Amino acid sequence: MNGWDTIVLEHLEQITSWPARIDALFVHARDTWDFFRQAEAAMSSSRTKILTHGDAQIIVQANPGRKRSIHARTDAQAFAARPCFLCLENLPVEERGLGFGNLVILPNPYPILKRHCTIPDRSHRPQRLAGRVASMLKIARALGPDMLVLYNGPRTGASAPDHFHFQACDAWQVPILQELALEGTEPMLQAHNSFGRNLLVLADPSAARLRKRLEQAVAVLGRTPVAGSGTPGEEPLFSLLAFYRKPRYYALLFPRVAHRPACYFAEGAGQLAISPAVLEMAGLLVVAEPEQFDRVGAKIALSIYQEVSLDDARFEQFEEEVRKLEDFA
Ligand SMILES: [Zn+2]
Repeated sequence: MNGWDTIVLEHLEQITSWPARIDALFVHARDTWDFFRQAEAAMSSSRTKILTHGDAQIIVQANPGRKRSIHARTDAQAFAARPCFLCLENLPVEERGLGFGNLVILPNPYPILKRHCTIPDRSHRPQRLAGRVASMLKIARALGPDMLVLYNGPRTGASAPDHFHFQACDAWQVPILQELALEGTEPMLQAHNSFGRNLLVLADPSAARLRKRLEQAVAVLGRTPVAGSGTPGEEPLFSLLAFYRKPRYYALLFPRVAHRPACYFAEGAGQLAISPAVLEMAGLLVVAEPEQFDRVGAKIALSIYQEVSLDDARFEQFEEEVRKLEDFA
């Protein structure tokens, strides 16, 4: 399909287990791609610290490899003027991947976690969740319980808002997962508040029903003041992650009111290169400028999360509206 097959490692398709196939893809990348191997090693040895607020913990990571993404201009003029780095012809020459229907799973050369993948569409199409949830859940199930599938909205951290992509990564270091009770077999809807963030947790043994419920929740969010864009057809502000733990699919929906906090735009000593996307919302706060690492304490992290998340009053209203839906009764 439009040339992508030239970078798909077809011989890895003989490996029937997807997690093992992903492992083999990363072994291949380390063996054949110096930049990737060095980036992954730098990420593994990056400075980290744990911050605590009440019962919740987050991890702060100093990761200069993320500068490009954190400082990305995501306005229409900026991305119209640059070659799209997720289009096949602009990928690093060493990049190889695994086909997943109309998507391709690629090692991300700017990783935050182990097995960090970028999963672009084979065609240059806008970043929008509509019509993509089924595929997100299908990837989650294939990758299994040790990995997450991530979605950044076009205005909440996707550094290529003009080229559709998911991401995936290892789940075990992601702090928000430690806070959730992940046992059960029934459909579930739960509000969760932690470290200044409000989120909805949906779980369901049926992918079709979870898809419907998630789409309905996003539609309700579109009518919520601040998170909704006010522009019909434009996606509301949210971050989303999904995973599968037998027998249920899970989706974590973080309603947002802003992409970047005020400190991102501040001048001088108060400036912080923190640009919260979905992994930040999940509790991995990435600081692109290592010299700013020491300045990020629990109080600053809390205020960043509060600033970009839907506030308590509006979130309660949002949750109530979602619960009123027939399908959630
Ligand atoms: Zn593109």
